[in-house]
Amino acid sequence: MNLLLYGPPGSGKGTQAEMLHKRFDIPHIATGDILRNEVAAGTPLGLKAKPIMAAGGYVPDDVMIGIIRNRLAQPDCVNGFIMDGFPRTIPQAQALDELLTELSKAFDRVLYLKVETSELVKRLAGRMTCPVDQKTYPPGTRTCPADGTKLVQRDDDKPDAVKHRIEIYLEKTLPLLDYYRARHLVSEIEGVGTIDEIHGSVLSALEKARVTN
Ligand code: AMP
Repeated sequence: MNLLLYGPPGSGKGTQAEMLHKRFDIPHIATGDILRNEVAAGTPLGLKAKPIMAAGGYVPDDVMIGIIRNRLAQPDCVNGFIMDGFPRTIPQAQALDELLTELSKAFDRVLYLKVETSELVKRLAGRMTCPVDQKTYPPGTRTCPADGTKLVQRDDDKPDAVKHRIEIYLEKTLPLLDYYRARHLVSEIEGVGTIDEIHGSVLSALEKARVTN
């Protein structure tokens, strides 16, 4: 089963992708996490990506496409994958189509988590992150409930970067919705509610589309 989690920053894609990963035992491919690991390791790619990410911009398409090409070639992707954070531009989507065709694969479903912009700003601004496992927690949370580590605010969750992330999403990423709608792949999911409620809606959408049968 090959799934794409699609939606604006802060819509809960990472959380839902992680739940799907546990349920279906297929890898969760999150380009944001891959880049943050490169930044933490201080690799040439990380050094290049760091200022772009801190400002809420997009890392160049050719770099991102290279990352995904390598990731999809890994053996754990043979039975499927959950893509989160890629593609974010039309050229990325076109390159991914070519890559999937080369690999004789295709998306089974695009799950669109719909959340109003005002709600996104509320969620992202002040969101706290565990520096150990990168999990995020609501504003005001001081320590990681899992391991007690002091939480930090990601540079790209600071107000100016949040504004830029939403603007660039609307300009470059929202057009992908029509790209995938034209292929009748999109299930729209209300991205507001508890994590379990939203997960329930995701599973219903997959059943309705007969992806999990
Ligand atoms: P995320 O955790 O998905 O919100 O990604 C964090 C940051 O990584 C984004 O704000 C971008 O700077 C960068 N990034 C992640 N995925 C992509 C992508 N597909 N294209 C360009 N930049 C990306």
